[in-house]
Amino acid sequence: MRALAPACAALAAILLLPVSAQAVVPARQLPPPRPLATVDHPPVDGVNSFDNGSRSVPRVALTFDADMTPGMLAQLQAGQVKSWYNREVRDILDTEGVHATVFLTGLWAQAYPDVARSLAGDPRLEIGSHTYDHAAFRTPCYGLAGTADRGGEIDRAQDQIQAVTGVRPNLIRFPGDCYDRSDVALAEQKGLAVISGDVRSGDAFNNSAPAVAAIVLRNLQPGSIVLMHFHGGPNAPMTAPALRMVIQGARSRGLEFGTVSEVLGRTAARPPRPVPTAEELLRPLRERKLESPTPPALRPDQPLAPYRRLRLESPRRIPWGLRNT
Ligand SMILES: [Zn+2]
Repeated sequence: MRALAPACAALAAILLLPVSAQAVVPARQLPPPRPLATVDHPPVDGVNSFDNGSRSVPRVALTFDADMTPGMLAQLQAGQVKSWYNREVRDILDTEGVHATVFLTGLWAQAYPDVARSLAGDPRLEIGSHTYDHAAFRTPCYGLAGTADRGGEIDRAQDQIQAVTGVRPNLIRFPGDCYDRSDVALAEQKGLAVISGDVRSGDAFNNSAPAVAAIVLRNLQPGSIVLMHFHGGPNAPMTAPALRMVIQGARSRGLEFGTVSEVLGRTAARPPRPVPTAEELLRPLRERKLESPTPPALRPDQPLAPYRRLRLESPRRIPWGLRNT
């Protein structure tokens, strides 16, 4: 079943209030959002997670799930699928200077370690966990296989992503967005905030980019968290062209893009700073020395005789009686 398992967000779009006209505010003038509390997701079920940021700040978070089930990995290894990395999405984010969050499965990070490392090192991007192999925490969940080891799914993903990228995520999106209260508690125990979203793009198994873009733009509001996919291939074939339309449409309304942490006012997980080399530590000292050379200091045990002799040899110090002799 896993080979046939669809990507996580083949969910029907949830209709939300239409976007009202927003004032255009340049990014640098946006106030940092206050950290927000979780919300009931979906409403009325009593399970709390993060669906959106402040509705009063014209900034939204585009998020991309990098699914990788064992079935998808088998397809990749058998050459049935060329790639589960949607390079075009990355290129668009780069070219447009768009901040975004990518939720990686551990298996995906294992399959694309160089890309995962590059994503983690990109200051415009943030990475989160999408569990180890995209097993469902609650079933039924769009045909995904369920897991009997929920804690292991989270831990293995954390370990794998950290081993590859140096970053231990502090955000998680559950596969298929299928979870309950105990799953949220489990993730929180492990230091992860559960991120859902309020705009489901419907880009999974959707062959119409305009249709995907229309769903997003119809539901987009300030503070929105948008669910899209990063794996491309036959499972999400139109994400890239839809993304171009979404970026253009959102910007035309004065909406800007932030990572999930930026939109929620949370601290992002970042790779550790590399340990400086001896050369890097010494360079500022050397440069300072060149700029303002300081005279060599006198050592306490250094004899003063040369200086005394110098004074005595100075013509001004020679007594009158000794001159011209
Ligand atoms: Zn997914």
